Amino acid sequence: MKVVEHTRRPIRVEPPVSRLIVTIDGPAGTGKSSVARALAGRLGLDFLDTGAMYRAAAAIVIDHGLDRLDESAVVEAVDRAGLHFDWTTDPPTLRSEGRSCMERLRESDVTSIVSPVAGLPRLRELLVLQQRRIGREHPRLVTEGRDQGSVVFPDAEVKFYLDASPAVRAVRRAEQLRGMGHPADPARLEAEIRARDRSDSSRTVGPLVRPAGAIVVDTSNMTFDGVVAELERLVRSRLAAAS
Ligand code: C5P
Repeated sequence: MKVVEHTRRPIRVEPPVSRLIVTIDGPAGTGKSSVARALAGRLGLDFLDTGAMYRAAAAIVIDHGLDRLDESAVVEAVDRAGLHFDWTTDPPTLRSEGRSCMERLRESDVTSIVSPVAGLPRLRELLVLQQRRIGREHPRLVTEGRDQGSVVFPDAEVKFYLDASPAVRAVRRAEQLRGMGHPADPARLEAEIRARDRSDSSRTVGPLVRPAGAIVVDTSNMTFDGVVAELERLVRSRLAAAS
């Protein structure tokens, strides 16, 4: 699924609705972030990448030399870091300890510990509260992650679950990393993706699940533009049916 920069003018939601929360959940490497961002642009909605928040927490654990199992220390450090998005950029820039942490988030040491860090129940509580606050402040939102439709916004107007085979996801992740100038080995990435799927799906708090009422889209054989267009069509038809 080749990621194409969208240059088309956004087609706004008409008539304007005061609240429209669209959740996109699914495993790593389904293209959720890029799809969510493009969909938000097409619909004129804000875009929230909640994986970035968990990645920032993992970066804090590493950069402060914390024990990742020391839940109190992790929660305190993440709380103190004052994670927040700068909404004036596209995509919004996540700031931690007063500066952008976007460059750090995709580095392999962060990726390798993010899933166990994200399994800390009190960290999830903190970030879920922050995500719900963002939802109140930005009620026209496309939000993506693992638990957005199931836990954070169970009353979202439209919920999606994106899926794709692990092999396809590994190839996509490799392309994404190479595009960012990082080395990438698809076989190793596939093994990492399978391990992260297991870890994300088996944790007791906020596991990766197909949320009730979610529309499941298998993107394995779809182009990036095809996925965005399909999701846009589905959102617009839901809105039309509800009006
Ligand atoms: O989507 P991304 O790969 O950036 O997410 C990184 C990790 O953050 C996931 O593997 C998962 O462990 C965690 N995560 C989560 N809940 C979310 C979003 C991400 O647990 N809502």
